[in-house]
Amino acid sequence: MELHGLTILGGKPSDPPVQNTMNTCITFAGVNPATGKRLEPFYYEASEAEIDQALQLAESAFGIYRKKSPEEIATLLEAMADAIVGLGDELIQRAVQETALPEGRITGERGRTVGQLKAFAQLVREGSWVDARIDRAQPERKPLPRPDIRRMLVPIGPVVVFSASNFPLAFSAAGGDTASALAAGNPVIVKAHPSHPGTSELVMRAVQSAIEKCGMPSGLVSLIHGTSTAVGVNLVKHPLTRAVGFTGSLQGGRALFNVAASRPEPIPVYAEMGSTNPVFVLPGALAERGDDIAQGLVQSVTMGVGQFCTNPGLVFGLKGPKLQSFIDKTALLMAQAPIGNMLNASISARYRSGAEELRKLPGVSVAGEVALPKDALTTQAAPRVLSTDADSFRKSHALREELFGPATVIVACESIAEAESLARSLDGQLTATIHGTASDVAQYQTLIDILTCKAGRVIYNGFPTGVEVCPAMHHGGPYPATTESRSTSVGTAAILRFARPVAYQSMPQELLPEQLRDKNLRNGWRLIDGEWTRADV
Ligand code: NAP
Repeated sequence: MELHGLTILGGKPSDPPVQNTMNTCITFAGVNPATGKRLEPFYYEASEAEIDQALQLAESAFGIYRKKSPEEIATLLEAMADAIVGLGDELIQRAVQETALPEGRITGERGRTVGQLKAFAQLVREGSWVDARIDRAQPERKPLPRPDIRRMLVPIGPVVVFSASNFPLAFSAAGGDTASALAAGNPVIVKAHPSHPGTSELVMRAVQSAIEKCGMPSGLVSLIHGTSTAVGVNLVKHPLTRAVGFTGSLQGGRALFNVAASRPEPIPVYAEMGSTNPVFVLPGALAERGDDIAQGLVQSVTMGVGQFCTNPGLVFGLKGPKLQSFIDKTALLMAQAPIGNMLNASISARYRSGAEELRKLPGVSVAGEVALPKDALTTQAAPRVLSTDADSFRKSHALREELFGPATVIVACESIAEAESLARSLDGQLTATIHGTASDVAQYQTLIDILTCKAGRVIYNGFPTGVEVCPAMHHGGPYPATTESRSTSVGTAAILRFARPVAYQSMPQELLPEQLRDKNLRNGWRLIDGEWTRADV
């Protein structure tokens, strides 16, 4: 498939794309982080008129799409999955070129992307996600009669999705946010990440072929390119935008959250902004399998050149010879880790300057690192482990901030009371991990309680990287991990972000959605007068 380098708005792939006025456009191209070479073609940034056009198209598509049956929506999601697989090696190669992520990782990510689309198809077909509740009328109730009330979740309208740099497929054009918003019955406008414009274009053309094949409305999904913050801001400000899904930096997520909150009509922003993902290694586990934990930690920190929001960036242990040998082992393994290319030069520059800042902090030392060769590319990143003590940790706020890249900091605490106090002082996190034995856990229950208040996912004897896509997954957490701790961006529960409840009072049967009629036409689970059942009313 030939790449055109154009902003893709809604419409059939055969429609002529809308051209920007070339005298005002900003152009940019993908760059191969492994070579520094520019990748053809040039892309141009969407104008305000194009952003408006995408939203107008989405709004008219919404009127049609929200009436589609669950079967039709599920069929679309499956057709999208098939069309993405149908792109074959061309997609894999383009994504590898634009991100420097290895082919195996990209192939795996395509599997995850396709799997997500299919999981949402299954969820929509089964239908119980709409959370139908029926409280029948009680005309005889005293002192006042009760009216018939029926409630379910309905779609909210056009959703703007910001693609992630670090997941060119699974959190980008047809990634989890797009899949969940479409599954809930909403149109989607994707802001492509400028790090992988060609990958985004290929996926979007596949998506649009699926839309056409399934007879879905033109404008249901659009792709908007851009490299200036104005594009994202205009998308969020647009009065037809009803919600936002975002994966990226705290600065970016917070800026867009503020824009959404200051609109005349504020809208929800579901921003997933990462965290330091603290790991607590308890004394029993350290004594029993310190070397194995060090090995697992280094693998988790360096996986994908550390470019995961679940990267374990902080490790806490109790001071003593066991912790020292754990630090030594981690340092040894880290110094042998491969040097990888980061996703783009600015992410790499931020990693390098962030790591430099940390090593200069009082009480912080580099325990182990890989030395970069003199002729290293600007995108190359050296894995490293730093160590410090609890007092220094308390004094330097920089140690609590996410350093996106292959680095971690080990903090030596004087006592469990000190470890608990540091845990209490942490910001909200996507994950928190405990390595312990049965007797550790019995002794350190308070620490587990503290971490449960801080994180969206608490892990026992494992590592936080590798987020399973399943109905029970929660990938979220209190601010600043996300802007909305009650929602997840991974797993089928992500659909709930893009739906809102409506209660129908005393509505005649024929005016009710099928899910709320007396006859349970869709056979989903419903809460009728306080009891879950699949029976008719
Ligand atoms: P980013 O800078 O937050 O950008 C993500 C997206 O949001 C891009 O499309 C960007 O558009 C847009 N954006 C950012 N700030 C904006 C603003 N103020 N107004 C409007 N739009 C804005 O993330 P990134 O480029 O992926 O990487 C930068 C840093 O983000 C990394 O160093 C890392 O710290 C963090 N990160 C975290 C995660 C995570 O999962 N938590 C994932 C990736 C990155 P433009 O690029 O066009 O401006």
